[in-house]
Amino acid sequence: MSELLQNHNFKFQKKYGQNFLQDVKIPRRIAMECTDFTFPEGDVIPDEKADSLILEIGPGAGILTKELAKRFRKVVAVEIDTSLEGVLKDSLAGYDNIEVVFSDIMDVDLVPFLEEKRRRDDGSLMPVSVCANLPYYITTPIIMKLLEEYPDFNFITVMVQKEVAVRLCAPAGDSEYGAITAQINLFGKAKRLFTVPSGCFYPRPKIDSAVIRIELYDKPKYAPDVAKETSTVIKNAFAMRRKTLSNALSGMYKGLSKEELGRKISEILGKGADVRGEKLTTDEFARLAMTLKDYK
Ligand code: SAM
Repeated sequence: MSELLQNHNFKFQKKYGQNFLQDVKIPRRIAMECTDFTFPEGDVIPDEKADSLILEIGPGAGILTKELAKRFRKVVAVEIDTSLEGVLKDSLAGYDNIEVVFSDIMDVDLVPFLEEKRRRDDGSLMPVSVCANLPYYITTPIIMKLLEEYPDFNFITVMVQKEVAVRLCAPAGDSEYGAITAQINLFGKAKRLFTVPSGCFYPRPKIDSAVIRIELYDKPKYAPDVAKETSTVIKNAFAMRRKTLSNALSGMYKGLSKEELGRKISEILGKGADVRGEKLTTDEFARLAMTLKDYK
């Protein structure tokens, strides 16, 4: 454990998923790859910072926060654990472009919060992206909150457990493809960047991690009501993964018998009535959701 944490008598809290990065090389790489901005190689601080706001979730002791602040105009870091206040004050001393907010990210109303943080002096809004080493206990709810509440992010770059990273980036039909994969594709495309061995963290977790980057569509591909309806269909389709789609969705569409629903599904998709959710792309889920919504 670092001297700084010891000096502040900091106690790691498992309930907050506190596994801190130890070596600056990993956070540096994450900071350099979290947007499409091209930074100089190595620990060379760019002459001019990228004109973006970065929202960091869970700064911990601030190791990633500093690497972001060296490269981006402004960093806002939201941390749940107030016992890190003294640690962060010390580790981030000397940076005038970092703001730490102590709150549970799940309680933050992102639209008013970010609209205020993004505002430049002339009133215009800075682009905004997310960069975080996420606490593992709450990875999926955080990603879904970010996507559903704030479509204006350019990139969402997060470190997650390696297995989760594989799932988030899986193509339709793959055995790892799940509800979260299809839901991410409503908002953008996820790409796996690199793996981070468990030995890079303190305390050391049982499994390796990986960094993924979601690039959000420039313009929303689906209107908010379509995304919402499609998301419900996706959740229902994967809640009963082993069932055919007509069985899994029959509870949703009360205006159709199971047989009628099966026929409609094959008409809409041009696939057999026994098709399962894991074979469908997000576009196909959206087509189903929109055509069937009047049969609820
Ligand atoms: N960024 C640091 C690093 O890379 O070393 C710490 C990452 S650690 C995996 C996750 C961090 O998220 C911890 O600092 C933890 O206290 C914080 N955290 C956990 N749940 C949170 C929540 N709901 N809202 C905000 N921060 C949270």
